[in-house]
Amino acid sequence: MSLIPIPSRIAAAEHELSDLLAYPQEQLAAIIKEVGFHCDLCSRCCTRAFNGHVFLLDCDTDRAREIDPESVEPAPYPEFCDQKGTFYVSGYALRAKDDDCRSCYFLENNRCRIYDQRFSICRVYPYMLHREPDEQGKIDWRQISGLDQHGEYHTEMTADICQDAARETQEYEVACIRQEISFLEYILDYFSKNRLRHVQKIYDDRMRAFARGEEIRVMVFYQGRLEEHRVRSP
Ligand code: SF4
Repeated sequence: MSLIPIPSRIAAAEHELSDLLAYPQEQLAAIIKEVGFHCDLCSRCCTRAFNGHVFLLDCDTDRAREIDPESVEPAPYPEFCDQKGTFYVSGYALRAKDDDCRSCYFLENNRCRIYDQRFSICRVYPYMLHREPDEQGKIDWRQISGLDQHGEYHTEMTADICQDAARETQEYEVACIRQEISFLEYILDYFSKNRLRHVQKIYDDRMRAFARGEEIRVMVFYQGRLEEHRVRSP
């Protein structure tokens, strides 16, 4: 991924954004209605074992920090590493607990303890709207995450609820891509001004060191600037 030049990545993200904006909301609403997903409160979606990390838009990071400054951490899998071994990532993620399933910092007794204030991705989940490969590797639009792996299906949903879910999902995905484009544009400029470049070998070496327990330096893109962190593997 990081071997692709940054300008090409920006162009690809802008292309994805225009396709996303052109995706008909009524089509997404019809899929949501047909699937008829209903949460059965299993809480698996709030664990990294099931879902990976919870990436935060900047507005969500603001809210998370207001609720509890300890609740966020640099998102894993940084996009870049420069020749000095510093990583760069496009935003924050919710911190995970050190339990077996790496549950979300806000999950308590299988319930979200800040449910009314939960974040953008938590509100739209399990709906999504981006291109992903399926089990056969075929890349196409995916609209439901973890289909048939959690929850109940084919429940009755009103047209208004489906339409609202479709609108919120599309808005969330647009905001995600815009945050990624801003990050890439910032890094392109920052690397050029500071004579930095991405070096994959150093990325791999530092990641191995991180896995062994060494500290790494991570710059997190947030509100149009970089915030510095020193991070160790949990
Ligand atoms: S904030 Fe709440 S809804 Fe979102 S992942 Fe954490 S526990 Fe789940």
